[in-house]
Amino acid sequence: PYDVLVVGGGPAGAAAAIYAARKGIRTGIAAERFGGQVLDTMGIENFISVSHTEGPKMAAELAAHVKDYEVDVMDLQTATRLVPATQPGGLATVELQNGATLKARTIVLSPGARWRQMNVPGEAEYRNKGVAYCPHCDGPLFKGKRVAVIGGGNSGVEAAIDLAGLVSHVTLIEFDGQLRADAVLQAKLRSLPNATVIVSAQSTEVHGDGAKVTGLAYKDRTSGEQKTIELEGIFVQIGLVPNTEWLKGAIELSPRGEIEIDARGQTSVPGIFAAGDATTVPYKQIVIAMGEGAKAALSAFDHLIRSAPV
Ligand code: FAD
Repeated sequence: PYDVLVVGGGPAGAAAAIYAARKGIRTGIAAERFGGQVLDTMGIENFISVSHTEGPKMAAELAAHVKDYEVDVMDLQTATRLVPATQPGGLATVELQNGATLKARTIVLSPGARWRQMNVPGEAEYRNKGVAYCPHCDGPLFKGKRVAVIGGGNSGVEAAIDLAGLVSHVTLIEFDGQLRADAVLQAKLRSLPNATVIVSAQSTEVHGDGAKVTGLAYKDRTSGEQKTIELEGIFVQIGLVPNTEWLKGAIELSPRGEIEIDARGQTSVPGIFAAGDATTVPYKQIVIAMGEGAKAALSAFDHLIRSAPV
């Protein structure tokens, strides 16, 4: 069995594997797609001490850094079930889609998350060419330009307020007849001179010139009219979904499906830790996921030296 088995090979999982392996304990990492969301990212400019890098480059460097250590890397492996140990100090089991099972004394879960998409024509084509999902990451690329934010929940309204300080104009588009964000956020947004709110609007298509986004088409759900906004950027903020469906029933999840963790990365089950975008930790960013992964691995090590094996 592994001393530490990491499930998920994004920034959180890679950091956890490296921190665990550096303790000289048996470490494995299983990932559906090593690199995680970083693989889908173009420019990264907020990874502190690296002014600019690109997602695929960072993903390759994550893999290379993990391979510097004695870590069992199991790429292209999807975990389908977690069975916690039945007694303190016992082994937890992770079942894989291919039928194999992995056993470990401690586990670090870092399966990450995925942004919910609008699923309209043009969205996939113009991803990273004007269609964006992370205002903290890509906001500065749209300095002085016109953008829309899709989604009137807290994250959409926060994104619109944030972007209004950078861009020339921001239009918030909400499907429903009213925004769902906290009243104080709505009031803040409506007080901004360069922000417009459109409700009862269904986004129908991302327009572009082949190289970049030029506009957003939507249907006015009250009149049925089709309308277009000219703009350079679209931030989709209709939900970040944690990849935790397979963990239901095994450990505590929040109402949003995030793995509940404490300040040490401990889940509701002793010996099972978690890190990164899949957890309740606020702010989903690479630098944060890595710190959380390191923390979870150190907590797993701390757990191991305190528990007698059975
Ligand atoms: P992820 O990166 O999501 O990795 C999850 C890992 O778990 C993957 O290896 C996945 O294949 C694996 N996995 C999932 N389910 C299973 C399973 N059942 N079994 C096995 N493996 C599984 N952040 C920044 O700081 N700066 C940026 O500029 C930036 N830009 C971004 C741009 C885009 C387009 C996107 C989508 C995100 C961006 N982010 C950025 C956010 C950043 O990528 C995430 O915060 C970070 O990758 C989270 O790391 P993680 O390890 O928690 O999860």
